[in-house]
Amino acid sequence: MVKISLKTLKNRAKKEIEKAKDLKRLNEIFNKYLGKKGELTKILRSLEKLPKTKRMKVGKTANELKNFLKTEFEKKTQVIKKKIGKATEEVEWLDITAPGKKPLIGSLHPLTLVKRKIEEIFQSMGFSVVEGPEMENEWYNFDALNIPKEHPARDRWDTFYLKNGLLLRTHTSPVQVRYMEKNNPPLRIIVPGTVFRHEATDASHEFQHYQIEGLMVDKKNSVANLKAIVGEFFRRFFEKNVEFRLKPDYFPFTEPSFDIGISCLVCNGKGCPACKGSGWMEVAGAGMVHPNVFKNSKLIPKDWQGWAFGFGLERLAMLKYKINDIRLFRSGDLRFLKQF
Ligand SMILES: [Zn+2]
Repeated sequence: MVKISLKTLKNRAKKEIEKAKDLKRLNEIFNKYLGKKGELTKILRSLEKLPKTKRMKVGKTANELKNFLKTEFEKKTQVIKKKIGKATEEVEWLDITAPGKKPLIGSLHPLTLVKRKIEEIFQSMGFSVVEGPEMENEWYNFDALNIPKEHPARDRWDTFYLKNGLLLRTHTSPVQVRYMEKNNPPLRIIVPGTVFRHEATDASHEFQHYQIEGLMVDKKNSVANLKAIVGEFFRRFFEKNVEFRLKPDYFPFTEPSFDIGISCLVCNGKGCPACKGSGWMEVAGAGMVHPNVFKNSKLIPKDWQGWAFGFGLERLAMLKYKINDIRLFRSGDLRFLKQF
């Protein structure tokens, strides 16, 4: 009986060991047969109850089986351990010769680069960077800046009027008044910010763009100061000597008013399609602060002299980086953005 059961036990155990997939299961099988209460252990313990001759015979077989199973367990353990090792190796394996994966690093938008550069230049000349609301009222956007009711700029075609009675500012100039109301001159500020115009978009027009307003007010401040500051700005911004000129123009909030033009960066003033053959490119509007603007800012006009300018940020970026279409800035085209 015992002999038969030893043979079946051997086959059963052998099969179970073969099937075992991990060390935990193998340990369970080991305990099942060779543990303290294991099947084979029990048989070995019961040997003493057998008559001597039988005991020797069965004992021999049982011990052989015990050794056989131990070897089997040992073998199987090695097989499983090897498998585990291989799997971990596969997971943790590192090919130190493989070319590295480049982490995706974003870059700053050209308008941000230009804005920061401009701020840096003016800050080094003692100007503070000031911001104002994009949602503005008619008083600050128009009336305070000496833009009368009948002025075409107030037409609905040019301005986005909002349902709450406010409007999207059409320029950064309202911040001039807002700032002068709260701060006494002398003052030097630049105001970078988004402005909105109700107009059709094309290669050189967007309904939304950035402007940089500049304002300097002091006891004695003239067009000569304006020219000095603007000239220094151009030189540092374009990193070369740029010729520029002031051409008479009209703005309601400055008197006298100018258009600031720089010598064409493409042809150096000789005349080319980019500058329509004139050799000049208009980049800003400027002028001496109108007495009415001082008055509306609660300052006494005869006490103060000031000038202001307004640059289009996109325009400056286009000139600096030789970009030919303003719509590229907000197109989200990575081929364009990755160049910066
Ligand atoms: Zn030109």
